[in-house]
Amino acid sequence: MSIAIAIDGPAGAGKSTIAKAAAKHLGFIYVDTGAMYRAIGLYCLRNDVDPADSEAVTALLENIDVSLARDENKNQLVILNGEDVSGLIRTEAVSMAASRCSAIPAVRAFLLDLQRNMAKEFDVIMDGRDIGTVVLPDAKVKIFLTASSEIRARRRYDELIEKGQQAVYEDVLADVIERDNNDMNRPIAPLKPAEDSVLVDTSELNLEESIALLIKTIEENK
Ligand code: C5P
Repeated sequence: MSIAIAIDGPAGAGKSTIAKAAAKHLGFIYVDTGAMYRAIGLYCLRNDVDPADSEAVTALLENIDVSLARDENKNQLVILNGEDVSGLIRTEAVSMAASRCSAIPAVRAFLLDLQRNMAKEFDVIMDGRDIGTVVLPDAKVKIFLTASSEIRARRRYDELIEKGQQAVYEDVLADVIERDNNDMNRPIAPLKPAEDSVLVDTSELNLEESIALLIKTIEENK
């Protein structure tokens, strides 16, 4: 039987970087479910469809094929209708589109099987918003990874600047807060800690300390 570790938490808590490093250390496959929602968000933007328009987005789904692949370094690639969109989905516009379309029930149902099947096949560390609560309620270890909104916005801002993108801290903070609100207040699969999850707060920790704490928490609980 494969082992699943669920990691949920708000945008910018460092989940992907931290969970990826922990997965490498533990020899698990890292699955970033946010990237799947981003691929759908990107498809909406490319086709001029409002990602919040439930009917229009639901109709688009039959034209969409999302899958995950790995590059030679075992990094996750996101494939949208045969195209590697892994780089293209990392913009603020796609973040917001992903957040909007992820509130649509048909979008969540569309991705659910794909996510569950991956966990059946491999030992996974799966990161998202509803992994411990909805996707993998029987996960061996559930972690809610978080940090204050100001710290998360600062980290996101630094990341964007490092990638050469233009950014204003106040705008990034407003986006983080808006995405948190969207994710926590949607009626379906809202972002919230699973009852049996362990809280890991990285506000006061640097990257190495956050990775070490996550690995320790997984090892103590698995
Ligand atoms: O994790 P990431 O920031 O890439 O996720 C993008 C968006 O996808 C989130 O703001 C959230 O709305 C949505 N998402 C979700 N459920 C997941 C993963 C991501 O609703 N399991």
